[in-house]
Amino acid sequence: MTDDLFRSDAYLRECEARFVRIHEDGIVLDRTVFYPLGGGQAGDSGRLALPDGREIAIADTRKAKDAEGRPTDEILHVPAPEQAPLLSALKPGDTVTARIDWERRHKLMRFHTATHLLCHLVPQPVNGCSITPDYARLDFHMTEPLDKEALTAGLIRLVEAGHPLVVGAITDAELDANPALVKSMSVQPPRGTGTVRTIRIGSEAESIDFQPCGGTHVANTREIGTVVVTKIEKKSANSRRVVLGWAV
Ligand SMILES: [Zn+2]
Repeated sequence: MTDDLFRSDAYLRECEARFVRIHEDGIVLDRTVFYPLGGGQAGDSGRLALPDGREIAIADTRKAKDAEGRPTDEILHVPAPEQAPLLSALKPGDTVTARIDWERRHKLMRFHTATHLLCHLVPQPVNGCSITPDYARLDFHMTEPLDKEALTAGLIRLVEAGHPLVVGAITDAELDANPALVKSMSVQPPRGTGTVRTIRIGSEAESIDFQPCGGTHVANTREIGTVVVTKIEKKSANSRRVVLGWAV
């Protein structure tokens, strides 16, 4: 398995790691700061620096899949095109420096955290989610219309309040006993270890949002900065799409 350092510290920009092997879809390291596509959040891009100083450009990050198509504990660093000559220089046990494109990742963390604030403003269940560096969108299972200006004002208020984020964990049994904690109908929390990672915004006494989530977030809502609702679409009779963008 790959030790996923971003789960305990989303602010790590680089780490030393050992090269394990090349999978047909990407490079496997023993540990990494690269977040693999999942939970609606895009995979990281960046570079792997070789011992001789040369760098392999990484275009995307994915979870490896087993024969049945289920994700495994291995993380695949997907090389950009034309990196083959550098790949052949890698030998098992080689130490590389894995470095993410931090500017891009920080945008993903800010948007991702903003989607949790949207879950506070719109209590209906989520049935779709996509977080990219340029926009984020959440689909809510609902029939009522939503007000773009009111949602943007709500976001700005929550961002400016400077609510802290706290990473925690609950057991699978606790989650089973509280199914309402899972706000997404499309993304199931990552299980398998007996506990599920949780993200709380605000304090236990004044909780803004609390839900299982395996993604990367900023430490305080103020760090989200100037996010606005750019569009609200009626995706279907019982689905409303909220699109977030950067204020210009
Ligand atoms: Zn999250």
